[in-house]
Amino acid sequence: MATYAGVDLGATNIRAVVGDETGRVVASRRTGTPQGPNGITVTEAVLDALRGAADEADVDPTRIAAVGIGSIGPLDLAEGAIDNPANLPDTIDRIPLTGPVGELVDSDEIYLHNDTTAGVIGERFYSDRNPDDMIYLTISSGIGAGVCVDGNVIGGWDGNAGEVGHMTVDPNGFMTCGCGVDGHWEAYCSGNNIFRYAQRLHDEDPVDTSMPMESADFSSADVFAHAEEGDEFAEHVLDQMSRWNVIAVANMTDSYAPLVIYVGGAVTLNNPDRVLDPLRERLDDVVFGNVPDVQLTTLGDDVVVKGALASAMTGGTGDRSRVR
Ligand SMILES: [Zn+2]
Repeated sequence: MATYAGVDLGATNIRAVVGDETGRVVASRRTGTPQGPNGITVTEAVLDALRGAADEADVDPTRIAAVGIGSIGPLDLAEGAIDNPANLPDTIDRIPLTGPVGELVDSDEIYLHNDTTAGVIGERFYSDRNPDDMIYLTISSGIGAGVCVDGNVIGGWDGNAGEVGHMTVDPNGFMTCGCGVDGHWEAYCSGNNIFRYAQRLHDEDPVDTSMPMESADFSSADVFAHAEEGDEFAEHVLDQMSRWNVIAVANMTDSYAPLVIYVGGAVTLNNPDRVLDPLRERLDDVVFGNVPDVQLTTLGDDVVVKGALASAMTGGTGDRSRVR
């Protein structure tokens, strides 16, 4: 029986799974992502997680036929490494991955993707229809997407396609993005920024609200919670958030013509109706071509690691007909 492995390398956690040729996870291992002293330390933690999962599955690592890796970026695909990861300390400049992982499992079939690309591969592989045209969108602390068009998972130069959170949605640039540019989508609608957007809107127009606008603990989750309790200003903030979400998802729809868009990430998983209903209701008004089916991710928090496993099984594509 063929054995495959998948790795989710995040800023906080590393997960490794070993699966069989049906895509069923038979063993998994999770560890904290080392915050230093250097990139090699992170590489070693990835190898340890893979060894641990293989051990639990009772297979020697060299029996693993292929490994998929879904990682934080930015990627350097030519070197099979992560280059100056934005969400880890500065001392971590370079994390070699495909070389050391290939040595561990004695295979040259190591597929490295950014995490949202792994996400679209996973949604594609595990969905009922195995669609050729689809998007995986994550609305989490940041916003990003993985895109599959005509059965091709889009990587882009050095594998960094799909950074849709940095599309400009607001030409007036009311909010400044973490990347320093005004008007980017995630400056309004990501988990790191919804509450900041609320604070800016409130500064402009200080209406009555039950939200703790000045509190150091004020968070994006508070905005959703207060909207549920009927706070009018919280409702207004979420309506504005949805306005930007509709613009951005419509732009992606007209660019890529997906049949279905799966949406995940903590903001969506914690508030599925608030995030998805406005898209389902309003996309039809602004999209030029066919309106895609908008669905909550079927894989929850496992989307990246299962996508990585699916990549290993399908030559980096998520196409079920490619399973050997
Ligand atoms: Zn940006």
